[in-house]
Amino acid sequence: MDDNQAPSSRRQEGSHKDRRGSGGSGGPRAKTPDEWKEILEPDRYEVCINHGTEPPFSGRYNGYSPDGGYMCACCRAELFSSDAKFDSGSGWPSFWRPASEDNIEYVQDTSYGMTRTGVNCGRCGAHLGHVFDDGPAPTNLRYCINSLSLIHESDCREE
Ligand SMILES: [Zn+2]
Repeated sequence: MDDNQAPSSRRQEGSHKDRRGSGGSGGPRAKTPDEWKEILEPDRYEVCINHGTEPPFSGRYNGYSPDGGYMCACCRAELFSSDAKFDSGSGWPSFWRPASEDNIEYVQDTSYGMTRTGVNCGRCGAHLGHVFDDGPAPTNLRYCINSLSLIHESDCREE
């Protein structure tokens, strides 16, 4: 991993190619990894953009129970709700369904010699976690999500 790049290569000129606003294809997904690196804290960048995994029981939202929605830490799309959160004992926030399938993207992940289903934000493409089929009824799904990929709505208000 080479995250010790010289900061001199950041931002060459002032031409902004920001294409948000029209809501068409592209949107926040048009950000490059370098652009995300300037916006996100290093640990969020590692999880959301580099598809890392936070250590179990380390995240803010494991064992967190206030009501409300959980947004994408990168683009604020609504991803999950406290209504579908449960304590899986895994050490990561777990949900048995997303708030809206439209905001979730499923990808096959064959890293670490396993075949798993990765879960990304459907709007910006940020890595969220994985989904497993050992969850509770009625879906029997367990969305195992990094706290660093999420922001609970009560934390959004403080920004
Ligand atoms: Zn997003």
